[in-house]
This record gives sequence, structure tokens and C-alpha cells, in this order.
Amino acid sequence: MSFNKFLLETLRARGWRVTAARRAVVEALARAGCAADVQTVYRLAKRAYPRLGLVTVYRTLDLLAREGWVQRWEEGGAARYELDQPHHHHLVCLACGAVQRWDRCPVSVREGATLGGFVVTGHRLELVGYCRTCREVVR
Ligand SMILES: [Zn+2]
Ligand SMILES: [Zn+2]
Ligand SMILES: [Zn+2]
Repeated sequence: MSFNKFLLETLRARGWRVTAARRAVVEALARAGCAADVQTVYRLAKRAYPRLGLVTVYRTLDLLAREGWVQRWEEGGAARYELDQPHHHHLVCLACGAVQRWDRCPVSVREGATLGGFVVTGHRLELVGYCRTCREVVR
């Protein structure tokens, strides 16, 4: 079973009404991959469900975030969303804004470590720089 299908079925089991609009949002989010903004999700979801309204996209994303299925954070003044996935990081291009997924974690401080009395429970890290394409232009 695909993660999408699993997700939709779990939501249904929890009493969610899985409408065509919500379904389109979940599927768009899966297709969008890492750090999608609302406009990207909206654009992709609209292809599957042309009558979709932007408000429904916001509501569905917020609901999914509240249920813990979707991570939500701010980046460059815009909210970003992605389906909850195994631990990974993002390489963000400062020129074009492209976000690349990076699975090799460069952080050596592990969960449960204490730093001067502070207990570490996890980390967030974003690496910024220039993507392959923009690197040529910037140089
Ligand atoms: Zn990601
Ligand atoms: Zn770039
Ligand atoms: Zn990490």
C-alpha cells in the first residue's frame, strides 16, 4: 500500500471525511516532496480537482499538521509543508529557492545528549548555498 493510501485510510478510520478535495491535497503534497509551499500544493492539487479552493488547501494542511502527519515550518517568510518522513535535511538555494533533500545527517550530537545542562531531544538544520545550476551563474 502506498503511503498516500495508508494515510487516507488512517484518516478515514479516525472519522475524517475524505472528500475528493482533501484527497487531492494529500496526493499533491506527496508529489510535491520536500518543503512545498501552499501555492505548489494548490497548483498540483488543482490538476486532480479543478474546483479546489485555496481555503480548503490551507484547512486541510493545518488539519494534517495538527494530526502530526505533516510538518509545518516557516522558511523565507512562507509556510512550508511536507509529509512526515524519516529524518533528513534540506539544502536550500539562496538564488532560486530550490530545496533539495539530504539524507546524510551531518549532526553528531544525538538525542538524549546534554549540553551544559540542556537536554537535546532533536535538531533542525537547513543548509544554505547555491544549487548546481545557480552555482555557475554566481561564480
Ligand atoms: Zn524534506
Ligand atoms: Zn538555485
Ligand atoms: Zn540530522
